[in-house]
Amino acid sequence: MTESIKLLGLFGHPVHHSLSPAMHNKEFGFLNLPYYYQAFDVAPANLKEAVSGIRALGIRGVNVTIPHKVDVMQYLDEVEEHAEMIGAVNTIVNDNGYLTGYNTDSKGFMDSLKEETTADIKGSKILVIGAGGAARAVLTGLWSSGAVDVCLTNRSMEKAEHLAEKFRGKLALKVWSKEKAVSQNNEYDIIINTTSLGMSPNIETKPWPSDRIKSDCICCDLIYNPLETTWLQEMDAKGNETLNGLGMFVRQGAASFEKWTDSYPDVQRMKETVLQNLGGK
Ligand code: NAP
Repeated sequence: MTESIKLLGLFGHPVHHSLSPAMHNKEFGFLNLPYYYQAFDVAPANLKEAVSGIRALGIRGVNVTIPHKVDVMQYLDEVEEHAEMIGAVNTIVNDNGYLTGYNTDSKGFMDSLKEETTADIKGSKILVIGAGGAARAVLTGLWSSGAVDVCLTNRSMEKAEHLAEKFRGKLALKVWSKEKAVSQNNEYDIIINTTSLGMSPNIETKPWPSDRIKSDCICCDLIYNPLETTWLQEMDAKGNETLNGLGMFVRQGAASFEKWTDSYPDVQRMKETVLQNLGGK
């Protein structure tokens, strides 16, 4: 008897560029799992109906991406603690009509940092650049992993202050202007760019000056298109350890995959699928 195929999906707007369908579907094939992942272009005005559709159609779960990660929370039955803290949901699991929201971006980044670099999170002075959704996920991950010395900088200082307020009592964040944060360049052990500066098509833009960054500072960029931003290339050329956003992307997907299927995907194989689809190395 053939098992019926269970549907999974992605809600975003736009979604045509997404690498998630290829990454998940290929892995379902490798593991012989009865799932199919489909990207759905959901306009903001249709989000509520789309979420109702998850229940109505018995869709097992979806990923949620820009611009719906925050708005979707109001339509769910429950939001897990980490997602609540991040203030955004990127994964929904449907258990017989009961929808729970999770955020796997935070785990995706921390797993990538721990598994792909030599970072000592507790003992490091860490600079986080940016105060958007990705920064929230990174800060939540750093907090969960016991980081104690974290500085935050952002173009809009108001947004950075607002974010630091959210972490009050959990993570003692120093909020610094760019000028002040740059003046401390020779002190960071880890620098994490969470802004979109350097992302395709604006690949020449750099989020941070490289002067006086220590040679043993680990430089991380959440961007994975291009795979290596101009800033990471520059830090690579200087001999610094670097981390691009591909590991985070694949691991957030792997964490969602586990929640929907109770099976463990092969992260390396998923990474290769994404690389093939990026036409990359
Ligand atoms: P977001 O919420 O829109 O935040 C964007 C951030 O970039 C803000 O801090 C913003 O500063 C800053 N920024 C944008 N343009 C700028 C400019 N011209 N000059 C200075 N700062 C600028 O976006 P997000 O969801 O956090 O995503 C940010 C990046 O992370 C994107 O490149 C995204 O692709 C990447 N990302 C990667 C993964 C992964 O799996 N690897 C996951 C999530 C996100 P202001 O606050 O001053 O506007």
